[in-house]
Order: sequence, then structure tokens, then C-alpha cells
Amino acid sequence: MKGNSPGNIIKEYPQRGPIKQFRFDKVVAFECFRCGKQKKSKLITIYDDNWNKRMCNGCYGFLLSIYEIKAGTKSENDKVTELANILFKLVSKNEIRIASENLKIKDNRNKHLEEQSIRFLASAEHLSEKVGIEYSLDWSPLVIGLCKALENELVAKLIVPLKEYCLNLDLENDKLDKDIGRIAKYIVSDNSKPPEIGTFSHFLQTALNSKSRRETSNLIKSFYEFLSEYSFSNWILDKDGLLKSLQIVSKEYRNKAAHIEELSKSEFNNCKELLTGESGVIWKLNKAMN
Ligand SMILES: [Zn+2]
Repeated sequence: MKGNSPGNIIKEYPQRGPIKQFRFDKVVAFECFRCGKQKKSKLITIYDDNWNKRMCNGCYGFLLSIYEIKAGTKSENDKVTELANILFKLVSKNEIRIASENLKIKDNRNKHLEEQSIRFLASAEHLSEKVGIEYSLDWSPLVIGLCKALENELVAKLIVPLKEYCLNLDLENDKLDKDIGRIAKYIVSDNSKPPEIGTFSHFLQTALNSKSRRETSNLIKSFYEFLSEYSFSNWILDKDGLLKSLQIVSKEYRNKAAHIEELSKSEFNNCKELLTGESGVIWKLNKAMN
């Protein structure tokens, strides 16, 4: 425990991840280290076992909502959806609109992205600037915003066109294949949810590695035929191309954000560089499928 408690504690609440609440016998004045507001309360939350990091109730509720999603037992994909919802709650429509315009001015390539992808990027970007260096807390919802932008581009630029290309194929055998079955089912179904990054990444890995399926699987054969219509699609067929990028995004960012680990600003910046930096994955994907 760093620092000193400001009075008589009459009740301690259980530790919830990095945060813990205490009730005092008298009202204590303090400044919330997260939002900077001056507060008076008998109830104080501290962050990271540090009495110099006192937090107001509003900030406590916010952090707790992130922590409860991450520590919960829902599927990883559900957690990602819930964290993305938190991200959108933190920004107004107007802020998203302005940040979207700024993104398009800053980098022309943003103009070619889907509206929903831009919304994810703009929300994350806006918050990262707003909270600035002071925001020493969990950056998971912002990192999820970046990952969802990539996922959205992947679905719109690659997976949906592949689905349309394969629409009249017989995929009965492929639906039973444990490695590509989920993509096969998505293609033949009218109303199934598009696959997440992890599912597609596993399909792609199989497509790139399995020599036998290139002979036997209608879906894999069509995947190669489909890509042959795009001049720059070699990046998608290269193991060090799209596949490697998707694996890094899943392992280093998306999965971590959905679990207990707290993500910092530097992880957010690294993820941003990987996806939308000078030679970002999102640009490469758009070039490959252009
Ligand atoms: Zn606060």
C-alpha cells in the first residue's frame, strides 16, 4: 500500500481487479486522479493500492464495468462486443463525426474504409487524445476499438465478397470440416453472424497450409480462385502477410483486452501503428482487395 489513508476506515470492500473501495467515518475531500474533479465523500476508491490515486464514484463505476466484463465468464467474442459498446458510450455522435473528418484529413486512405470501421477508429482516436497522458488506467476499450475496425474491414472487404463468390457452391463436406466448417456454414447461411478475426485466421491458416484441401475442398479451391481475380492478393496468400498480422492482433491485443490484463497507452499506440501506421495492416488489406 502506497501513501496514507486520509482518516478512519469503517469498512473495506473487496478488491476488484486494480480497484478497492473504503468507507470512512467522516467526509473526506479529495481530487479524483482520473477525472481531476474535486470531490467530498465518505466513500473513496483507490487504484493500484495507492492512496495517492483516489477515485470518485463515477470513475469507479466506469472502471468496474470494464473489469467485470474482462473478469466475467462470457465468451471472448461477447466480451469484445461489450467492450466496444463501452467505447461508443464514451464518445458523443458529434465527437465521432469530428474525429472521423480529422482522420480523413490526416490520412487520405481513411476515405476508403467502411463507415463503421471509421467510427471505431475515430472513437478510439478521440478518446486517446482526450484522456491523454493522465489516463493511466485500462485502455482495453480503446484497443478493442482498433481491433474491431480491422475486423470490420476484414468482413466487408474480404469475407463478404468471398461469401458472394461462393454462394452457389456445394459446401456440405466443408461444413463438417473442423478447421474451415465455421466459414463454410457462414457462407451458405442467410443470416449467420460474420466470423470474428480468430475464426477467419484459423480458416486462412488452413487454406495456406493444407495441400490436401486444395485438392478436395470446394471452399478452399474457390478461395484461391476468388483471390486470383485481385492483383495484389499475394499478401493474403503469404504466411507472413495477412495471416501473421491477424495472429499478432489476436494474441497481443484483442485477447489481452478481453481478459484480465490491463492494457496501457503504449500498447494502444503499438496496436494503432500496426493497424493504421505508415504500412498498417488495414491499408494492406484494402490494397490487396482493391
Ligand atoms: Zn473521477
